[in-house]
Amino acid sequence: MKKKIALLGATGSVGTSTLEVVKEHQDKFEIILATAHNNYLELVKAGDEFNIPNLAITNRKIKFDKSITSSKIIRGEDELLQFLQEIDYDILLNAIVGSAGFKYTIKGLKEEKIVALANKESLVMCGDIINDILRKSNAKLLPVDSEHSAIMQCLMGTKDKKEIRKIILTASGGAFRDWKKSDFPQITIADTLNHPTWDMGNKITVDSATMGNKGLEIIEAHHLFHLPYEKIEAVIHPQSIIHSFVEFIDGSILSQLSYPDMKIPIQLALSYPRRIEATSNFTNIATLPDLTFIPIDYKKYPLLEMAYKVGKNGGIMPTVFNAANEAAVNLFLKEEIAFTDIAKIVECYLNIKNISNPDLETIIAKDKEIKEKVYSNYK
Ligand code: NAD
Ligand code: MG
Repeated sequence: MKKKIALLGATGSVGTSTLEVVKEHQDKFEIILATAHNNYLELVKAGDEFNIPNLAITNRKIKFDKSITSSKIIRGEDELLQFLQEIDYDILLNAIVGSAGFKYTIKGLKEEKIVALANKESLVMCGDIINDILRKSNAKLLPVDSEHSAIMQCLMGTKDKKEIRKIILTASGGAFRDWKKSDFPQITIADTLNHPTWDMGNKITVDSATMGNKGLEIIEAHHLFHLPYEKIEAVIHPQSIIHSFVEFIDGSILSQLSYPDMKIPIQLALSYPRRIEATSNFTNIATLPDLTFIPIDYKKYPLLEMAYKVGKNGGIMPTVFNAANEAAVNLFLKEEIAFTDIAKIVECYLNIKNISNPDLETIIAKDKEIKEKVYSNYK
Protein backbone atom coordinates (compact mmCIF):
# COMPACT_ATOMS: atom_id res chain seq x y z
CA MET A 1 0.00 0.00 0.00
CA LYS A 2 1.24 3.44 -0.87
CA LYS A 3 1.81 5.85 2.01
CA LYS A 4 -0.52 8.83 1.76
CA ILE A 5 1.24 12.16 2.28
CA ALA A 6 -0.18 15.54 3.19
CA LEU A 7 2.50 17.97 1.98
CA LEU A 8 2.31 21.40 3.58
CA GLY A 9 4.43 24.11 1.94
CA ALA A 10 4.64 22.18 -1.35
CA THR A 11 5.92 25.15 -3.38
CA GLY A 12 8.98 25.88 -1.22
CA SER A 13 12.48 24.49 -1.29
CA VAL A 14 11.78 21.47 0.97
CA GLY A 15 8.33 21.08 -0.62
CA THR A 16 9.68 20.76 -4.15
CA SER A 17 12.46 18.40 -3.01
CA THR A 18 9.71 16.27 -1.44
CA LEU A 19 7.86 16.22 -4.77
CA GLU A 20 11.07 14.97 -6.43
CA VAL A 21 11.37 12.15 -3.87
CA VAL A 22 7.74 11.15 -4.48
CA LYS A 23 8.31 11.25 -8.26
CA GLU A 24 11.19 8.79 -7.86
CA HIS A 25 9.08 6.44 -5.72
CA GLN A 26 5.58 6.61 -7.15
CA ASP A 27 5.02 2.98 -6.21
CA LYS A 28 5.52 3.82 -2.52
CA PHE A 29 4.14 7.31 -1.94
CA GLU A 30 1.21 9.40 -3.10
CA ILE A 31 0.40 12.99 -2.26
CA ILE A 32 -3.21 13.41 -1.32
CA LEU A 33 -2.99 17.04 -0.17
CA ALA A 34 -0.57 19.82 -1.10
CA THR A 35 -0.59 23.40 0.15
CA ALA A 36 0.90 26.80 -0.68
CA HIS A 37 0.41 30.22 0.84
CA ASN A 38 0.43 32.44 -2.28
CA ASN A 39 1.83 30.70 -5.32
CA TYR A 40 -1.28 28.92 -6.55
CA LEU A 41 -0.03 28.56 -10.14
CA GLU A 42 2.91 26.50 -8.91
CA LEU A 43 0.59 24.52 -6.66
CA VAL A 44 -1.86 23.75 -9.46
CA LYS A 45 1.05 22.70 -11.68
CA ALA A 46 2.19 20.22 -9.00
CA GLY A 47 -1.43 19.14 -8.55
CA ASP A 48 -1.68 18.27 -12.26
CA GLU A 49 1.69 16.55 -12.44
CA PHE A 50 1.18 14.43 -9.31
CA ASN A 51 -2.56 13.94 -9.61
CA ILE A 52 -3.13 15.48 -6.18
CA PRO A 53 -6.84 15.36 -5.31
CA ASN A 54 -6.78 18.19 -2.73
CA LEU A 55 -4.99 21.54 -2.88
CA ALA A 56 -5.03 24.22 -0.20
CA ILE A 57 -4.16 27.91 -0.53
CA THR A 58 -3.68 29.22 2.99
CA ASN A 59 -3.63 32.96 2.19
CA ARG A 60 -7.31 33.92 1.90
CA LYS A 61 -6.42 37.23 0.22
CA ILE A 62 -5.18 35.50 -2.94
CA LYS A 63 -7.72 35.67 -5.78
CA PHE A 64 -8.12 32.26 -7.34
CA ASP A 65 -10.13 30.93 -10.26
CA LYS A 66 -11.24 27.40 -9.33
CA SER A 67 -11.84 26.45 -12.95
CA ILE A 68 -8.07 26.12 -13.61
CA THR A 69 -7.96 22.79 -11.75
CA SER A 70 -10.10 19.74 -11.19
CA SER A 71 -8.63 19.18 -7.68
CA LYS A 72 -10.71 20.07 -4.65
CA ILE A 73 -9.64 23.50 -3.37
CA ILE A 74 -9.41 24.45 0.30
CA ARG A 75 -9.00 28.14 1.13
CA GLY A 76 -7.61 29.53 4.39
CA GLU A 77 -5.75 28.30 7.47
CA ASP A 78 -8.74 27.29 9.62
CA GLU A 79 -10.27 25.49 6.66
CA LEU A 80 -7.00 23.58 6.15
CA LEU A 81 -6.89 22.61 9.82
CA GLN A 82 -10.47 21.39 9.58
CA PHE A 83 -9.72 19.49 6.37
CA LEU A 84 -6.77 17.71 8.00
CA GLN A 85 -9.28 16.26 10.43
CA GLU A 86 -11.49 14.97 7.63
CA ILE A 87 -9.03 13.28 5.29
CA ASP A 88 -7.23 10.01 5.73
CA TYR A 89 -3.43 10.31 5.46
CA ASP A 90 -0.36 8.57 6.91
CA ILE A 91 2.32 11.26 6.99
CA LEU A 92 2.09 15.00 7.37
CA LEU A 93 5.23 16.56 5.94
CA ASN A 94 5.40 20.08 7.31
CA ALA A 95 7.59 22.24 5.04
CA ILE A 96 5.94 25.56 5.88
CA VAL A 97 8.36 28.33 6.80
CA GLY A 98 8.12 30.26 10.06
CA SER A 99 5.79 30.34 13.02
CA ALA A 100 2.77 29.88 10.70
CA GLY A 101 3.65 26.18 10.59
CA PHE A 102 3.37 25.04 14.19
CA LYS A 103 -0.43 24.63 14.38
CA TYR A 104 -0.35 21.99 11.64
CA THR A 105 2.37 20.05 13.47
CA ILE A 106 0.20 20.03 16.59
CA LYS A 107 -2.86 19.05 14.53
CA GLY A 108 -1.08 16.11 12.88
CA LEU A 109 0.29 14.85 16.19
CA LYS A 110 -3.07 15.18 17.92
CA GLU A 111 -4.54 13.06 15.11
CA GLU A 112 -1.84 10.47 16.00
CA LYS A 113 -0.19 10.69 12.58
CA ILE A 114 3.46 10.57 11.60
CA VAL A 115 4.71 14.14 11.32
CA ALA A 116 7.86 14.60 9.20
CA LEU A 117 9.08 17.97 10.40
CA ALA A 118 11.04 20.51 8.39
CA ASN A 119 9.30 23.41 10.18
CA LYS A 120 11.79 23.68 13.07
CA GLU A 121 9.85 26.68 14.42
CA SER A 122 7.20 24.20 15.65
CA LEU A 123 9.64 22.67 18.13
CA VAL A 124 11.23 25.98 19.05
CA MET A 125 7.86 27.45 20.02
CA CYS A 126 5.99 24.39 21.29
CA GLY A 127 8.64 21.79 22.11
CA ASP A 128 7.23 20.99 25.56
CA ILE A 129 3.63 20.77 24.31
CA ILE A 130 4.71 18.57 21.39
CA ASN A 131 6.64 16.19 23.67
CA ASP A 132 3.65 16.01 25.96
CA ILE A 133 1.42 14.95 23.05
CA LEU A 134 4.03 12.40 21.92
CA ARG A 135 4.25 10.88 25.41
CA LYS A 136 0.49 10.46 25.65
CA SER A 137 -0.29 9.17 22.15
CA ASN A 138 0.79 6.98 19.24
CA ALA A 139 1.84 9.98 17.20
CA LYS A 140 5.38 9.98 15.79
CA LEU A 141 7.68 12.90 15.02
CA LEU A 142 10.53 12.50 12.54
CA PRO A 143 13.12 15.15 11.71
CA VAL A 144 13.61 16.37 8.15
CA ASP A 145 16.24 18.96 9.06
CA SER A 146 19.50 17.41 7.82
CA GLU A 147 21.43 17.79 11.10
CA HIS A 148 18.66 16.23 13.15
CA SER A 149 18.15 13.44 10.65
CA ALA A 150 21.90 12.75 10.94
CA ILE A 151 21.70 12.59 14.73
CA MET A 152 18.63 10.35 14.59
CA GLN A 153 20.55 8.02 12.28
CA CYS A 154 23.62 7.99 14.54
CA LEU A 155 21.38 7.11 17.49
CA MET A 156 19.49 4.28 15.78
CA GLY A 157 21.32 1.59 17.75
CA THR A 158 21.54 3.43 21.08
CA LYS A 159 19.44 1.92 23.85
CA ASP A 160 20.14 4.41 26.64
CA LYS A 161 20.42 8.21 26.25
CA LYS A 162 22.88 8.21 29.17
CA GLU A 163 25.47 6.79 26.75
CA ILE A 164 25.49 10.06 24.80
CA ARG A 165 28.26 12.42 25.91
CA LYS A 166 27.23 15.19 23.52
CA ILE A 167 25.90 15.93 20.07
CA ILE A 168 27.64 18.32 17.71
CA LEU A 169 25.60 20.01 15.00
CA THR A 170 27.55 21.03 11.92
CA ALA A 171 27.01 24.44 10.35
CA SER A 172 28.15 25.57 6.91
CA GLY A 173 28.94 28.97 8.39
CA GLY A 174 26.56 30.61 5.91
CA ALA A 175 27.37 33.32 3.43
CA PHE A 176 29.74 35.29 5.69
CA ARG A 177 31.89 32.51 7.09
CA ASP A 178 34.99 34.00 5.48
CA TRP A 179 34.06 37.66 6.10
CA LYS A 180 35.48 39.73 8.92
CA LYS A 181 32.92 41.03 11.42
CA SER A 182 34.17 44.56 10.70
CA ASP A 183 32.86 44.14 7.09
CA PHE A 184 29.34 43.10 8.23
CA PRO A 185 27.86 46.64 8.05
CA GLN A 186 28.33 46.57 4.23
CA ILE A 187 26.39 43.32 3.76
CA THR A 188 23.65 43.39 1.07
CA ILE A 189 20.66 41.09 0.51
CA ALA A 190 22.34 39.59 -2.55
CA ASP A 191 25.46 38.77 -0.47
CA THR A 192 23.26 37.14 2.17
CA LEU A 193 21.22 34.99 -0.20
CA ASN A 194 24.37 33.58 -1.78
CA HIS A 195 24.65 30.43 0.38
CA PRO A 196 27.87 28.47 -0.14
CA THR A 197 26.46 24.91 -0.02
CA TRP A 198 22.65 24.68 0.31
CA ASP A 199 19.92 26.01 -1.99
CA MET A 200 17.07 26.97 0.37
CA GLY A 201 14.22 29.43 0.91
CA ASN A 202 15.13 33.08 1.65
CA LYS A 203 14.26 33.05 5.37
CA ILE A 204 16.47 30.10 6.29
CA THR A 205 19.26 31.38 4.02
CA VAL A 206 19.34 34.65 5.99
CA ASP A 207 19.16 32.64 9.23
CA SER A 208 22.16 30.61 8.06
CA ALA A 209 24.15 33.78 7.48
CA THR A 210 23.38 35.11 10.98
CA MET A 211 23.66 31.59 12.50
CA GLY A 212 20.18 32.21 13.90
CA ASN A 213 19.34 28.98 12.06
CA LYS A 214 21.88 27.02 14.12
CA GLY A 215 20.38 28.63 17.22
CA LEU A 216 16.91 27.42 16.25
CA GLU A 217 18.38 23.99 15.49
CA ILE A 218 20.02 23.74 18.92
CA ILE A 219 16.59 24.29 20.52
CA GLU A 220 15.06 21.85 18.02
CA ALA A 221 17.69 19.23 18.99
CA HIS A 222 17.05 19.76 22.71
CA HIS A 223 13.38 18.84 22.25
CA LEU A 224 13.90 16.05 19.71
CA PHE A 225 16.61 14.18 21.57
CA HIS A 226 15.77 15.15 25.18
CA LEU A 227 19.27 16.43 25.90
CA PRO A 228 20.30 19.35 28.11
CA TYR A 229 21.83 22.34 26.32
CA GLU A 230 25.21 21.59 27.91
CA LYS A 231 25.33 18.47 25.73
CA ILE A 232 24.50 20.25 22.45
CA GLU A 233 27.34 21.94 20.57
CA ALA A 234 27.90 23.30 17.07
CA VAL A 235 30.94 23.50 14.82
CA ILE A 236 31.50 25.09 11.42
CA HIS A 237 32.06 22.56 8.67
CA PRO A 238 32.32 24.51 5.40
CA GLN A 239 31.80 21.56 3.02
CA SER A 240 28.40 20.47 4.49
CA ILE A 241 29.24 16.80 3.91
CA ILE A 242 29.10 15.65 7.54
CA HIS A 243 25.61 16.52 8.73
CA SER A 244 26.28 16.18 12.49
CA PHE A 245 28.05 14.05 15.10
CA VAL A 246 27.15 12.09 18.20
CA GLU A 247 29.89 11.52 20.76
CA PHE A 248 29.35 8.65 23.21
CA ILE A 249 30.67 8.22 26.75
CA ASP A 250 33.26 5.65 25.60
CA GLY A 251 34.93 8.26 23.37
CA SER A 252 33.50 6.93 20.12
CA ILE A 253 32.01 9.45 17.66
CA LEU A 254 29.49 8.63 14.94
CA SER A 255 28.51 10.87 12.05
CA GLN A 256 26.38 10.71 8.92
CA LEU A 257 27.72 11.89 5.56
CA SER A 258 26.37 12.69 2.12
CA TYR A 259 26.46 15.44 -0.45
CA PRO A 260 24.27 18.29 0.76
CA ASP A 261 20.88 17.27 -0.68
CA MET A 262 17.65 17.56 1.30
CA LYS A 263 16.16 14.66 -0.66
CA ILE A 264 18.15 12.26 1.55
CA PRO A 265 16.65 13.27 4.96
CA ILE A 266 13.22 13.84 3.36
CA GLN A 267 13.21 10.34 1.85
CA LEU A 268 14.28 8.74 5.13
CA ALA A 269 11.48 10.55 7.00
CA LEU A 270 8.98 9.18 4.44
CA SER A 271 10.34 5.62 4.33
CA TYR A 272 11.18 5.34 8.07
CA PRO A 273 11.95 2.94 9.71
CA ARG A 274 13.11 1.35 6.44
CA ARG A 275 15.57 2.77 3.95
CA ILE A 276 14.73 2.72 0.26
CA GLU A 277 17.00 3.04 -2.73
CA ALA A 278 17.88 6.52 -3.96
CA THR A 279 17.95 7.01 -7.70
CA SER A 280 20.80 9.50 -7.76
CA ASN A 281 23.30 11.53 -5.80
CA PHE A 282 25.43 8.82 -4.24
CA THR A 283 28.41 10.39 -2.51
CA ASN A 284 31.77 9.59 -4.06
CA ILE A 285 34.07 9.39 -1.04
CA ALA A 286 37.30 9.23 -3.06
CA THR A 287 36.62 12.57 -4.74
CA LEU A 288 35.36 14.47 -1.70
CA PRO A 289 37.15 17.72 -0.86
CA ASP A 290 39.10 17.92 2.41
CA LEU A 291 36.64 17.95 5.29
CA THR A 292 37.48 20.79 7.65
CA PHE A 293 36.11 22.15 10.94
CA ILE A 294 36.31 25.59 12.50
CA PRO A 295 35.26 26.53 16.05
CA ILE A 296 32.42 29.07 16.12
CA ASP A 297 33.27 32.69 16.93
CA TYR A 298 30.29 33.59 19.15
CA LYS A 299 31.13 37.31 18.95
CA LYS A 300 30.64 37.17 15.19
CA TYR A 301 27.28 35.41 15.54
CA PRO A 302 25.50 36.88 18.61
CA LEU A 303 22.19 35.14 17.79
CA LEU A 304 23.73 31.79 18.63
CA GLU A 305 24.51 32.78 22.20
CA MET A 306 21.03 34.30 22.52
CA ALA A 307 19.49 31.02 21.33
CA TYR A 308 21.31 29.07 24.06
CA LYS A 309 20.08 31.61 26.60
CA VAL A 310 16.40 31.49 25.56
CA GLY A 311 16.58 27.72 25.21
CA LYS A 312 17.90 27.31 28.77
CA ASN A 313 15.35 29.80 30.13
CA GLY A 314 12.56 27.93 28.33
CA GLY A 315 8.94 29.01 28.81
CA ILE A 316 7.87 31.68 26.36
CA MET A 317 11.43 32.90 25.61
CA PRO A 318 12.14 30.67 22.57
CA THR A 319 8.86 31.95 21.04
CA VAL A 320 9.98 35.54 21.68
CA PHE A 321 13.37 34.85 20.10
CA ASN A 322 11.80 33.19 17.09
CA ALA A 323 9.15 35.88 16.55
CA ALA A 324 11.60 38.79 16.84
CA ASN A 325 14.02 37.04 14.50
CA GLU A 326 11.33 36.22 11.95
CA ALA A 327 10.07 39.81 11.86
CA ALA A 328 13.61 41.22 11.71
CA VAL A 329 14.57 38.89 8.86
CA ASN A 330 11.43 40.02 7.00
CA LEU A 331 12.42 43.66 7.46
CA PHE A 332 15.92 42.88 6.23
CA LEU A 333 14.53 41.13 3.14
CA LYS A 334 12.42 44.26 2.46
CA GLU A 335 15.59 46.36 2.74
CA GLU A 336 14.23 48.25 5.74
CA ILE A 337 17.04 47.34 8.13
CA ALA A 338 20.70 46.35 7.86
CA PHE A 339 21.98 42.80 8.32
CA THR A 340 23.60 43.71 11.64
CA ASP A 341 20.25 45.08 12.93
CA ILE A 342 18.71 41.57 12.95
CA ALA A 343 20.57 40.44 16.07
CA LYS A 344 20.24 43.88 17.69
CA ILE A 345 16.44 43.77 17.29
CA VAL A 346 16.18 40.26 18.71
CA GLU A 347 18.29 41.22 21.71
CA CYS A 348 15.88 44.09 22.57
CA TYR A 349 13.11 41.59 23.36
CA LEU A 350 15.04 39.11 25.48
CA ASN A 351 14.62 40.94 28.79
CA ILE A 352 10.84 40.66 28.89
CA LYS A 353 9.25 38.74 31.74
CA ASN A 354 9.23 35.01 31.05
CA ILE A 355 6.06 32.90 31.23
CA SER A 356 6.65 29.30 32.26
CA ASN A 357 4.70 26.41 30.73
CA PRO A 358 2.81 28.61 28.25
CA ASP A 359 -0.27 27.07 26.63
CA LEU A 360 -0.92 27.30 22.90
CA GLU A 361 -3.07 30.44 23.19
CA THR A 362 -0.30 32.23 25.11
CA ILE A 363 2.29 31.15 22.54
CA ILE A 364 0.12 32.36 19.62
CA ALA A 365 -0.55 35.69 21.34
CA LYS A 366 3.12 36.30 22.21
CA ASP A 367 4.28 35.43 18.68
CA LYS A 368 1.81 37.99 17.29
CA GLU A 369 2.62 40.63 19.92
CA ILE A 370 6.38 40.50 19.39
CA LYS A 371 6.12 40.60 15.60
CA GLU A 372 3.74 43.58 15.75
CA LYS A 373 6.12 45.40 18.09
CA VAL A 374 9.09 44.83 15.78
CA TYR A 375 7.15 45.94 12.68
CA SER A 376 5.60 48.99 14.36
CA ASN A 377 9.07 50.38 15.09
CA TYR A 378 9.78 50.49 11.35
CA LYS A 379 6.49 51.90 10.00
P1 NAD B 1 10.44 28.25 1.45
O1 NAD B 1 10.32 29.70 1.73
O2 NAD B 1 11.19 27.83 0.24
O3 NAD B 1 8.97 27.61 1.36
C1 NAD B 1 8.01 27.86 2.33
C2 NAD B 1 6.68 27.20 2.02
O4 NAD B 1 5.78 27.59 3.06
C3 NAD B 1 6.04 27.64 0.69
O5 NAD B 1 5.39 26.54 0.11
C4 NAD B 1 5.01 28.68 1.13
O6 NAD B 1 3.87 28.74 0.27
C5 NAD B 1 4.61 28.18 2.50
N1 NAD B 1 4.20 29.28 3.39
C6 NAD B 1 4.82 30.48 3.57
N2 NAD B 1 4.14 31.22 4.48
C7 NAD B 1 3.08 30.48 4.87
C8 NAD B 1 2.00 30.71 5.78
N3 NAD B 1 1.89 31.87 6.44
N4 NAD B 1 1.08 29.73 5.94
C9 NAD B 1 1.18 28.57 5.27
N5 NAD B 1 2.18 28.29 4.38
C10 NAD B 1 3.12 29.23 4.20
O7 NAD B 1 11.03 27.59 2.77
P2 NAD B 1 12.00 26.30 2.89
O8 NAD B 1 13.40 26.73 2.70
O9 NAD B 1 11.46 25.17 2.08
O10 NAD B 1 11.85 25.98 4.45
C11 NAD B 1 10.67 25.42 4.99
C12 NAD B 1 10.93 24.99 6.42
O11 NAD B 1 11.89 23.93 6.41
C13 NAD B 1 11.53 26.08 7.31
O12 NAD B 1 11.05 25.93 8.61
C14 NAD B 1 13.02 25.81 7.26
O13 NAD B 1 13.69 26.27 8.42
C15 NAD B 1 13.03 24.29 7.20
N6 NAD B 1 14.21 23.70 6.56
C16 NAD B 1 14.51 24.03 5.28
C17 NAD B 1 15.63 23.47 4.66
C18 NAD B 1 15.95 23.78 3.22
O14 NAD B 1 16.86 23.16 2.67
N7 NAD B 1 15.26 24.68 2.56
C19 NAD B 1 16.42 22.57 5.38
C20 NAD B 1 16.08 22.25 6.68
C21 NAD B 1 14.96 22.81 7.26
MG1 MG C 1 19.49 22.27 9.13
